[in-house]
Amino acid sequence: MAPASLLWLIRHFPAGAMDGLRRTALRRTVRLAGRRSRFYRDKFAALHIDPERVRDLADLRDCETTPEECRAAPPDALLCGRPDLVVESSGTSGRVTRLYLSHAELEYYARQGVILLAMMGAGPADRILGAFEYAWGLGGIYTQRIGAHSGLFGVFPGLVDPAEAIERLPEYRFTIVMGDPFWIARFTEIAMARGVRAPMTGFVSAAERMTERLRGLIEDYWKAPVYMTYASTELGASLGAECTEKTGYHLHEYDYAVEILNPDADGFGEVAFTTLTRSVMPLIRYRTGDVARLIPGRCPCGLPFRRLSAIRGRNDELLACVWGNVHPGLFEDLLRGVEGIGDEWQVALRQPGLRRCSSSVSNPRPVPPPWRPPRRGFGPISPNSIPPLGQDRAAPVRHQGVSGASRKSPDGAEDPPAGGRAGRMTPMTSGGAEIRWTSGGECHIFDRLNAF
Ligand SMILES: [Zn+2]
Repeated sequence: MAPASLLWLIRHFPAGAMDGLRRTALRRTVRLAGRRSRFYRDKFAALHIDPERVRDLADLRDCETTPEECRAAPPDALLCGRPDLVVESSGTSGRVTRLYLSHAELEYYARQGVILLAMMGAGPADRILGAFEYAWGLGGIYTQRIGAHSGLFGVFPGLVDPAEAIERLPEYRFTIVMGDPFWIARFTEIAMARGVRAPMTGFVSAAERMTERLRGLIEDYWKAPVYMTYASTELGASLGAECTEKTGYHLHEYDYAVEILNPDADGFGEVAFTTLTRSVMPLIRYRTGDVARLIPGRCPCGLPFRRLSAIRGRNDELLACVWGNVHPGLFEDLLRGVEGIGDEWQVALRQPGLRRCSSSVSNPRPVPPPWRPPRRGFGPISPNSIPPLGQDRAAPVRHQGVSGASRKSPDGAEDPPAGGRAGRMTPMTSGGAEIRWTSGGECHIFDRLNAF
């Protein structure tokens, strides 16, 4: 179905009918898991849940699925049917996550992915460049199948050197570029350096978070929007995507039942989903670890689906302090526009009076960009040279806990211990400003030890 036709159908689908279909799909999924999946059969039994009597999510409130459980379980324990393929991802935790699928499921998800193109206003004249990596993950193959179902011309080389894509732009005239933020940033940077410009409908990105500054740079150069999607291996597709309003991810609620677990006063909590249209490896109330909230109200674009906010961070990056549950992403907003602070900064939280209760978010060593060796040579372009745009990307961080040896910094304060968990974060590196909270909740911002 053409993207525009699909969008028309969604906009005119009765809301009540959609709810009914979703409830039916949920019941079907739970029953299937209860009958076929050893993992869920055991889980339901332990929780005294009769899957045949489950009617909605409220009946499953005691049932959650964690990534750790899935990784620990034998793969076939999660399966309800025969898989045709598997995709995997190391994710942000560094541990491999696997999703088994059937070809039919991949094709179904890809057909749904055409909605993404519809939301960005793609038309018959558009041409797609798919630059998501193939390798072991979902991105490359998923993008290629979306292209196949879209009816649009497309070229899907995967994670190639962006310079090669720039060289082919005049002949292939692609107008929609799909790739991770870092690839799109490099693509843009090379185009800038070579003075290449071309009419673009838009860019579609996923995976890492892209800062608004980087998005603005790319959009300003190409005079075309950058749309973000929220996707993961476990989802098998995207949970949601931005529309032209770019006010959050419109959730694909016909394929997933989405919940926000343990929301705080502002509605932020952990995103959990239940698959509604999967038969090989359904997941029930799967905890993503991502923190976000649902955006109230209906989007001006007219789509009936709820919107999810930008992912504020990982659940395991939250820090409990006098401000409540604080995520490091807070500081991106806090420091933006503060005179004297550039894009690189470091945050340290110290709570005097508590036994070595130092907890911090820092990036004590340079983090190489997530560039992978290309299948072919790069020529004169260094795979790790992405500045200046690439410096703006989301960077992994170290997030320290409450234990471990401390050391003294030049001003006599305790520095956080080395080590800790790696996580996903907003831009922050060493050498910039420092924020210190007092136990009373005061916040002091230091720039190279000079308070201001
Ligand atoms: Zn919208």
